[in-house]
Amino acid sequence: MLSILNELPAGLLQCDARQLIKVLPGPTLIRLAGKRDEVLFISVLLHGNEISGWEALRSILADYHNKVLPRSLCLFIGNVTAAAEGRRCLPEQTDYNRIWKADGSTAEHRLAHEVLTELGGMRLFAAIDIHNNTGMNPHYACINRLDLHFLHLARLFSRTIVYFIQPDEVMSLAMAAYCPSVTLECGQPGETTGVAHAREFIDACLHLSAFPGHVLPDKELDLFHTVATVRVKPDVYIGIAERGTDFSLLPDMDKLNFTELPTGSLFGWSGRQHLPLQAWDEQGREISARYFELYKGEIITRTPVMPSMLSLNREIICQDCLCYLMERLPLAQAQQKYAD
Ligand SMILES: [Zn+2]
Repeated sequence: MLSILNELPAGLLQCDARQLIKVLPGPTLIRLAGKRDEVLFISVLLHGNEISGWEALRSILADYHNKVLPRSLCLFIGNVTAAAEGRRCLPEQTDYNRIWKADGSTAEHRLAHEVLTELGGMRLFAAIDIHNNTGMNPHYACINRLDLHFLHLARLFSRTIVYFIQPDEVMSLAMAAYCPSVTLECGQPGETTGVAHAREFIDACLHLSAFPGHVLPDKELDLFHTVATVRVKPDVYIGIAERGTDFSLLPDMDKLNFTELPTGSLFGWSGRQHLPLQAWDEQGREISARYFELYKGEIITRTPVMPSMLSLNREIICQDCLCYLMERLPLAQAQQKYAD
């Protein structure tokens, strides 16, 4: 299923995400030699509709046409069949960013295994997996390990950094076993600022000779820890600004992303007897009662929380989740964990 190439196929850089299928038979790994041997790994289009990573990459590769790259690159161009249709993933596929833990048996899990086997044979410098999201979110970087080099890599992209260990089937977590690894969230697909930002970051990584060894000052970044994943219960109808229905989102709910909500904040409406939401902590326990209560048709927060990834897109909410809940993680504590 995986194609492996040692050069860019003719016409590749002329293709936008929807057109890649004309040049690539499917998911493809491309190795390109550069001045420094340790390889920068860049993954794009694990989600076929999240095109900023590919746009940034094709632009930077066009600039290096006929020039030597400052550092060797390995590119993974992921779900080109879903990209051809502008979708996150196709109905018969497993989500390409939920296949990187060695416990599944689908075709997509076998693909992930092949990719990791190839990467395991390389000397890796860093790993970057580039995404977009659907709601209004700032640009931020996610890490799955509280390690100084991971923090430096993430800080190179944004002062907003999210640490999470669930879901644990994501690529950046698998790559964390090999080298400093990040997931970039570059705002919504199609925004030129996200492409420019990803491009700048890739270029900075290509030119970086080593990660600094110094500890980052607290003022330098805002670090958050994902404490829960919120899902809408499976049999629940999702409305937008429809009070009285099973579950209704607030009309501009995605504006709450990365906003600290005080206890008692409105978090949606429900005409049901019981809370239509579930919240799961990193240990897989259902903890919605800690965060939400339903009172006279209003879903109210019970403790200060900060959501991320809220979107008004029903398909994404059903395929993935409603949002994540985060808490601020003091840097000193994080770096102490690193020191331990
Ligand atoms: Zn994504």
